[in-house]
Amino acid sequence: MTVEQATARRLDGSAAAAEIRERIRPRIEAFTRRAGRAPKLGILLAGSDPGSEIYVRNKMKSSAELGMESDLRRLPETAALGDALEIVAEFNASATHDGILVQSPLPDGMGSDAEQQVFDAIAPGKDVDGFNPANVGRLVQKRPALAPCTPSGIIDLLDREGVEISGARAVVIGRSDIVGKPMAMLLLHRNATVTICHSRTRDLPGVAAEADILVAAIGRAAFVTREFVKPGATVVDVGMNRLDDRAQVEALFGAGSRKLAAFDRRGSVVTGDVHPAVAQVAGALTPVPGGVGPLTIAMLLANTVSAAEGRQALA
Ligand code: NAP
Repeated sequence: MTVEQATARRLDGSAAAAEIRERIRPRIEAFTRRAGRAPKLGILLAGSDPGSEIYVRNKMKSSAELGMESDLRRLPETAALGDALEIVAEFNASATHDGILVQSPLPDGMGSDAEQQVFDAIAPGKDVDGFNPANVGRLVQKRPALAPCTPSGIIDLLDREGVEISGARAVVIGRSDIVGKPMAMLLLHRNATVTICHSRTRDLPGVAAEADILVAAIGRAAFVTREFVKPGATVVDVGMNRLDDRAQVEALFGAGSRKLAAFDRRGSVVTGDVHPAVAQVAGALTPVPGGVGPLTIAMLLANTVSAAEGRQALA
């Protein structure tokens, strides 16, 4: 079976992201008229992770397309945690930096709790990733907060696609601070009945198969197979896994598939946590790429505009 035989409706994250960008464009223009400058995102990129380079480049390109500014600061792989904290302190104190983004992962040499320390240091009003504990607490209490971009984008997509959240059984596989936990919280606030699963969950396929809305945020290629999915369920695939083994790509997607053709052109492909055969069981499914990824960037821009507006209102 190949992905080409899919029956699930494709949930188009790129189209949803384009809509989000058009919604925020007039807000950026209004802010720029009032403030005499564009909203600005301060970005810290430490080390030389190739994935991070691509993410940061895409974020800067998308913000420039909407007339926003970004200010990229780089640190070498050998930099100390103190160097990162110094840049965050500078962004915090700046009158013209509205949002702060610290690209993960930070270099190992900064220590195992470096990301936590850096997120703790970001001023909550500029915390466009929503990882500072003040924003996490506000999110849990359902108070206005800068919420993490990936889960907020997913809620936006479900709404846009008319997927009923209220009263639905939702299962989130993954309990990370950046995706799984905030995803569960946002679904709960929209009145879904939410279960969070992880590596110690017993009978994971059985639990997942109860879901009307299944979110996979695991980081394992094609982990979620058909038996995880109730027929007709909405499946959101957050995973982004690079495959560089041709045989694995062929086994998953089939000999004549577009994925295999893409592999032959590029030498690797990106795939999600959801097995391609799930497209024959699910009612609706996000593709990878073109699903959750574009939404995450659009929500980052939306959060930066909200942060800029919030700071302007206080001025
Ligand atoms: P993470 O911090 O590594 O968390 C992975 C979660 O999956 C953990 O809670 C882990 O459980 C669970 N898990 C791992 N193996 C499992 C298994 N065999 N059975 C059940 N649960 C298992 O990852 P993350 O940062 O949340 O990211 C998840 C994926 O989403 C990655 O592929 C990442 O690249 C992708 N992502 C994409 C975007 C986007 O914009 N598209 C944004 C963020 C992340 P334990 O807690 O028990 O270890």
